[in-house]
Amino acid sequence: MSTENDTLIGVAASPGRAVGPVVRMPPRVPEPPTTRLPRGTEDAAAAAVTEAASRVERDLAERATRASGTASDVLSVTAAMAADPTLAADAVRRVREDRLTPERAVWDAAGAVASQLESLGGPMAERARDVRDVRDRIVAALTGVTPPGVPSPGHPFVLVGADLAPADTAMLDPDTVLALVTTRGGPTSHTAILARTLGIPAVVALPGASSLTEGEKVLVDGTLGTVSRSPSESAVEDARRRSAASAPVFSGHGRTKDGAEIELLANVADPAGAVTAAEAGALGVGLFRTEFCFLGRGEEPTVDEQVREYRAVLARFPGRRVVVRTLDAGADKPLRFLAPGHEDNPALGVRGLRTAVDHPGVLDRQLAAIAAASAAESADVWVMAPMIATVDETRDFVAACASHGLDHAGVMIETPAAALQSRWIMGVADFASLGTNDLTQYTMAADRDLAGVAALSTPWQPAVLELVRVACSGGAVHGRPVGVCGEAAADPWLAPVLVGLGVTSLSMTPRALAEVAAVLATVTSEECADLARLALDQPTARAAREAVRLRIVTP
Ligand code: PEP
Ligand code: MG
Repeated sequence: MSTENDTLIGVAASPGRAVGPVVRMPPRVPEPPTTRLPRGTEDAAAAAVTEAASRVERDLAERATRASGTASDVLSVTAAMAADPTLAADAVRRVREDRLTPERAVWDAAGAVASQLESLGGPMAERARDVRDVRDRIVAALTGVTPPGVPSPGHPFVLVGADLAPADTAMLDPDTVLALVTTRGGPTSHTAILARTLGIPAVVALPGASSLTEGEKVLVDGTLGTVSRSPSESAVEDARRRSAASAPVFSGHGRTKDGAEIELLANVADPAGAVTAAEAGALGVGLFRTEFCFLGRGEEPTVDEQVREYRAVLARFPGRRVVVRTLDAGADKPLRFLAPGHEDNPALGVRGLRTAVDHPGVLDRQLAAIAAASAAESADVWVMAPMIATVDETRDFVAACASHGLDHAGVMIETPAAALQSRWIMGVADFASLGTNDLTQYTMAADRDLAGVAALSTPWQPAVLELVRVACSGGAVHGRPVGVCGEAAADPWLAPVLVGLGVTSLSMTPRALAEVAAVLATVTSEECADLARLALDQPTARAAREAVRLRIVTP
């Protein structure tokens, strides 16, 4: 947001400090000019095409074996495309017949394949983007420019870019990406959530990030939201010492000082995340974001494939609760097989459960897969739908779950409408989970991905807290639990306020469990209620936060 001497100030998005050299997200691979080769050089140019394609394929396949989860899947799919002989053969023909340079020949050959796929429509059309990705990688190999996507320079680095595409975020490796700095994004953007999950310090909404140069040493403070250029030796040493200090350990229990149990659960995105959550001692999973298993996929995963992914998560929590959220596609998390047509305002468009209107089969097959996974494992499976706005949607979803024998069906409350209607909605749903990221976005009319409105994007906004209170009171009327699975649950100072507002469970990135449990243990249930009243009574988010922090005496 601003600069103080050599310190750039943005928005804190993931805590921690790290020092390292800047590596920038590469710019788009430029379109090569249409240049003709001198006669007699066609053979060498043709050989260059095939050699570059197999180099790209080898590199991607090798990176796929080193990566895991979605990253590995995405890399394998791209490697297979680079290995497809049709593209290289067409490019070679263009080199020989039209005497195009290898890079222009690849560009045109890929363009032809992509247009053909687009003309077929449906899932095939979605493949066009993958073809263009492979094109860019082969052209980069031929011209010596940096390939697209998260770079792999062979040493740890601070990644700097405008923002990351959802498919790029799957490529972040916490062993090499020391910290993340973006010009765009807000504190609850998915890039920020992923950085927190991976424990990568991050600063977002930092316009000055564009001035950071490749290789420059910076100190990123994701707790304060600052990036220091030319940091002093003592600052570097201090950052190293703090990041080496061991994190608090979670005992497995969430309890207030007077012994009231608050379930502390984990948010997970895939089987690897479930391993981390179980190791961190989470009681169960309060939010399994299933769409993250399939980001970057052109086609709907088969039921068998889904069963495999879901079982791998459930297997980590035998006898424990796992709340599976059905696909939350759209807006910031596009899934190509559920993509609506063009929307001017996708956050207000066909996303979450709304996609089931045009694609009822996708929801039906997902529920079948969840039911099969649930039958095969001993976890206590609850299912919930994202982006509910009405009682009718709730009723339809609960009925769809029941038709698959899934008898614990709930909803996410992440629209003001759902919060305000909760006394009706909770008469139909078995439980609810407050998605405070979207609830904040829709209450404050502030795009969670937009740097310019990042200051508004905090669940400490009294208006958001009031909606949390209303949602909880709707649950209480019917004696049904209302949890929180948005990022608010991971804020140790906000946790007692949420409990005081009536929230019964908190689900968060596993890294936050210990700190949230530690603060909860310092307050009684009555003090939580007092803190909730105090926060609700403030005129601004900052006043609410400060008032609560002043009251809580940490151990
Ligand atoms: C939320 O909106 O708070 C939530 C948990 O869902 P997501 O962040 O995946 O949109
Ligand atoms: Mg949401």
